[in-house]
Amino acid sequence: MQSIDKFNFAGKKVFVRVDFNVPLDENFNITDDTRMRAALPTLKKILADGGSVIIGSHLGRPKGVTEKYSLKHILAHLSELLGVDVQFANDCIGEEAAVKAAALQPGEVLLLENLRFYAEEEGKPRGLAEDATDEEKKAAKAKVKESQKEFTKTLASYADCYVNDAFGTAHRAHASTALIAEYFDTDNKMFGYLMEKEVKAVERVMNDIKRPFTAIMGGSKVSTKIEIIENLLTKVDNLIIAGGMTYTFTKALGGKIGLSICEDDKLDLALELIEKAKANNVNLVLATDAKVADSFSNDANTQIVPVNEIPDGWEGLDIGPDSEKKFAEVIKNSKTILWNGPTGVFEFDNFTSGSRAVGNAIAEATANGAFSLVGGGDSVACVNKFGLADKVSYVSTGGGALLEAIEGKVLPGIAAIQK
Ligand code: AMP
Repeated sequence: MQSIDKFNFAGKKVFVRVDFNVPLDENFNITDDTRMRAALPTLKKILADGGSVIIGSHLGRPKGVTEKYSLKHILAHLSELLGVDVQFANDCIGEEAAVKAAALQPGEVLLLENLRFYAEEEGKPRGLAEDATDEEKKAAKAKVKESQKEFTKTLASYADCYVNDAFGTAHRAHASTALIAEYFDTDNKMFGYLMEKEVKAVERVMNDIKRPFTAIMGGSKVSTKIEIIENLLTKVDNLIIAGGMTYTFTKALGGKIGLSICEDDKLDLALELIEKAKANNVNLVLATDAKVADSFSNDANTQIVPVNEIPDGWEGLDIGPDSEKKFAEVIKNSKTILWNGPTGVFEFDNFTSGSRAVGNAIAEATANGAFSLVGGGDSVACVNKFGLADKVSYVSTGGGALLEAIEGKVLPGIAAIQK
């Protein structure tokens, strides 16, 4: 596989797929440019080598051309970050884009308009009538798949090489994230620096495991994490279950959970997972106590009770001190750690203690040589909230992409470069 670090981009035109899906306020000001900064090492390396860059990205989920989702809103900031006057093409596949791409000189950058202004980027039909028949749906899908080929070919035609630095969309087989790679030979397609780091971090926790390996799965529901838990049960030594999921397990085991969040249709599944853990010799660690509240609010009255004796009218919004201790002990003895999902409703300051304890234990284990990967939506917000981002080995930028990788799925954006 080609490596970006070894590649010399001098005189090359490079199509770089980035994830510039940044949040904008109502005046189109960028409120968090983390994703743009994350792609800078890749973009700067190409420019420093004497290459030129054609940048492709999506922004939001437009269903056609939408002013709100135009990438021109980020043009000025991108120019500032790169120290280059970035050019803009108002249509990612129009004649303007082709002419501007062809005229690019070494050190120059062209930003293409939002790729998702075209249905062909995602390959999903748009504007289907709600009462469309299965036949009509099938025909519309076939049509967009057909025009997707031309769309992809056009994007590929701008460049000599292809770099994918958009880990956040690596789980999608879209035109610019996966299909485009077919138009470049193995030597001329590669991951960007960000993507490379993400892929390495995932491979390290899923394949290059130093034991004990502990996963902490939190968040609200078992149903959204079943596949991950099942896959992890074949890999980890310890699986800590935290967050709202706790109460589905507790109820399944016959405990009283009061008003705590629970998926009653997943009780059997919880028992099956407990059995599977036993069969695989995995130490399944459940909370022993809970910090319960008399309403779903930061200012609710609280008490600490055994997790299986939650009084009527109360709900568990975080783990209790005994569980914190138990979790921390397991984590501190680990050599590989994966954390996804808070232990409680960490958005309320009075219910952050458990997540903070888990974060601190991971930081301590990391300081003692463990490899720790934190990722998937809210756990990233957690480590940022507690100032722990630089005390863990790696914080992933990928939400859905990271979770699918942990589920053991092959990510199309990764496979397209590796094959
Ligand atoms: P997820 O997106 O599945 O990772 O879930 C994250 C969300 O789970 C956060 O917004 C938390 O507030 C929520 N959560 C964690 N613990 C609980 C709990 N005990 N009760 C209700 N929600 C919870």
